[in-house]
Amino acid sequence: MQFVRYTTGETPAWGVLDDNRIHALDARPNGAPLLAEIGDEAVRSAIQRDVENGVLPTNDRSSVSLLAPVPSPGKIICAGLNYHDHAEEQNEEPPEKPMLFTKSPSAVANPGDAVIHPEDISQVDYEVELAAVVGRTGSNISKENAEDYVAGYTVLNDVSARDAQFDDGQFFRGKSYDTFAPMGPTLVAGDGFNANSVNVELRVNGKVKQASNTDEFIFDIGDLISYISGFTTLCPGDVISTGTPGGVGIFRDPPELLEPGDNVEAEIEGIGVLKNNVVAE
Ligand code: MG
Repeated sequence: MQFVRYTTGETPAWGVLDDNRIHALDARPNGAPLLAEIGDEAVRSAIQRDVENGVLPTNDRSSVSLLAPVPSPGKIICAGLNYHDHAEEQNEEPPEKPMLFTKSPSAVANPGDAVIHPEDISQVDYEVELAAVVGRTGSNISKENAEDYVAGYTVLNDVSARDAQFDDGQFFRGKSYDTFAPMGPTLVAGDGFNANSVNVELRVNGKVKQASNTDEFIFDIGDLISYISGFTTLCPGDVISTGTPGGVGIFRDPPELLEPGDNVEAEIEGIGVLKNNVVAE
């Protein structure tokens, strides 16, 4: 099921996207409690029945603006070097344990929002990623139980200022400029979505730059959640971004980085296309 956070110009709301109609979940609690609910199979079944029976108020998809599923995550934890093909393009050996870094929660941008190209940065890059949104609090989660803690999955473009990332010796500034974490357009939950086997693609101005499948993961969703929750408590609304496949701009020969005016489309099978334009600061 594709859940969406959206606005008609008033207060943000949650709904279910079905055939270009959005079925409003106004009667359910908003925010973190909803994330816990949609991670629950029984609740999803009840919502599915309401959608099928047409008992919820609806809006046309075209009459609303979709929003990032989580406007201000408690934390955004990202895996680096987590696709075999991305490690190969950098001539890096696959890491023995997940390589993690964080992005500022203030970097979140909505589908359709501008990605601001900072004036002081010359190397702005794209990275399409599958992101898991946490639905329940947990620590020391086993790999087997990991998916019970996921509310759903979305697309995150891990926009990166490469000059800052490489100059600083660590990633925080380069990954955290405002608008460098567009997320959406939907949050997919439930059976029928296999997070460890979906196609992932990114296009710039219509040209394919990254095309892979999450079956290239070095550490899958269960590995990441188990590893991360072993040292920090995961909370509803936290975002775990699973790394990007090969084809990023900086490792192309010659490099192909983002410039103001570029149109970026990050797509994951079953979730949809996350579109953002790059705009000069
Ligand atoms: Mg990344």
